[in-house]
Amino acid sequence: MDYHKFIEIVDDWPKEGISFKDITPLMADGEAFRSAVDDIVNFAKEKQIDVVVGPEARGFIIGCPVSYSMGVGFVPVRKKGKLPREVIEVDYGLEYGKNVLTIHKDAIKPGQRVLITDDLLATGGTIEATIKLVEELGGVVVGCAFLIELGYLDGISKLEGYEVLSLMKYE
Ligand code: 5GP
Repeated sequence: MDYHKFIEIVDDWPKEGISFKDITPLMADGEAFRSAVDDIVNFAKEKQIDVVVGPEARGFIIGCPVSYSMGVGFVPVRKKGKLPREVIEVDYGLEYGKNVLTIHKDAIKPGQRVLITDDLLATGGTIEATIKLVEELGGVVVGCAFLIELGYLDGISKLEGYEVLSLMKYE
């Protein structure tokens, strides 16, 4: 399915100069949302995934239905101060701002095969930080899946050597 018509482009939000891709119309359409989730499940199907990992907040929206459909667990990556038990953390840069991401220290067992999901790949800072967290715990990242890739921000260059799926690309 071509999902572009379900994405609303909001210029100068949340800051001037940013062209925000709003995925909420896609999420609100039952057929399109299911189809997008199924596309990611198909990408991951032969990869013997043990667990899906997604960064907050929109990585949860994509990752949870994927993990449910595959019958594997979901592990959240969250901003500092949000997870209740012992975490490891990593600094990352966003398209607009800076932050720290964390994951529970016992969330991934060494050798587990991990699919990472997020709604959108922009500069690649978020996915790079998420990969670092997973790999520090001994997880093996066997794929990264996004609804949208912003080609003009070249986040894909941070994902050399990883298998990547983007359902839509904006140049
Ligand atoms: P990056 O770290 O690759 O620069 O930015 C990607 C992260 O920022 C993703 O977690 C994504 O949710 C959020 N993000 C950045 N720009 C957009 C956008 O235009 N639309 C949406 N939906 N999320 C964005």
